[in-house]
Amino acid sequence: MAGPCSVESREQIFSCAKIVKDAGAKFLRGGAFKPRSSPYSFQGLGLDALRLLREAGDAHGLLVVSEVMEISQIEQMMPYVDLFQVGARNMQNFNLLRELGAVRRPVLLKRGIAATIEELLLSAEYLLAGGNYDVILCERGIRTFETYTRNTMDISAIPVVKKLSHLPIVGDPSHGTGRRDKVPAMARATVAAGGDGLLIEVHPNPDKALSDGAQSLFPEQFAELMDALRIIAPAVGRTL
Ligand code: PEP
Ligand code: MN
Repeated sequence: MAGPCSVESREQIFSCAKIVKDAGAKFLRGGAFKPRSSPYSFQGLGLDALRLLREAGDAHGLLVVSEVMEISQIEQMMPYVDLFQVGARNMQNFNLLRELGAVRRPVLLKRGIAATIEELLLSAEYLLAGGNYDVILCERGIRTFETYTRNTMDISAIPVVKKLSHLPIVGDPSHGTGRRDKVPAMARATVAAGGDGLLIEVHPNPDKALSDGAQSLFPEQFAELMDALRIIAPAVGRTL
């Protein structure tokens, strides 16, 4: 992407929307406010990106998800997102969670980088206690001593959450592994383990991506993966 509202940004967001829609996905997820580990990395295009995401989502009949990083962004984002994402780095930002508990818009709550399952569930309680019952949990990998993958995708969190909570849980094998070639296996495992959905990063040209290119699937890989998931889902009583 070249800059706010550039023709290139617009084309890329619309092209991503078409890729995910054609493969059968229901949500378009893009970061407008980005929690980058380094302050020198691309920080997102802010509201300009949100407008484009909404437009592209509407054009393709997709719901829009984007990350909220601070309380002041909630109101700004309301006209554009169907689902607020709370990222791993903000899972225990209790003030943000309290505010999101007071809005009537679903929240996707990602597991913290080094959070236990109990801590994830307690963070979800902040949302529920405020009266926002539309909460989806997300297993996105945790930090362990293993360095071959970016994070260690904790598939066992899925059956544990299913036992302890009524909340849906989705898997994010993109951040969970950090490596494109490992994403399909962990996506299939998420569905087989009883996960309620998947968050998968896809890019028309991953080598040129401004964020997380190494873990972004090529469009053909994503379509192929979705076909495989359509075969696995019925084995565990689900459909895609
Ligand atoms: C993301 O979803 O793009 C993201 C930054 O993820 P996480 O908060 O899990 O690191
Ligand atoms: Mn990412």
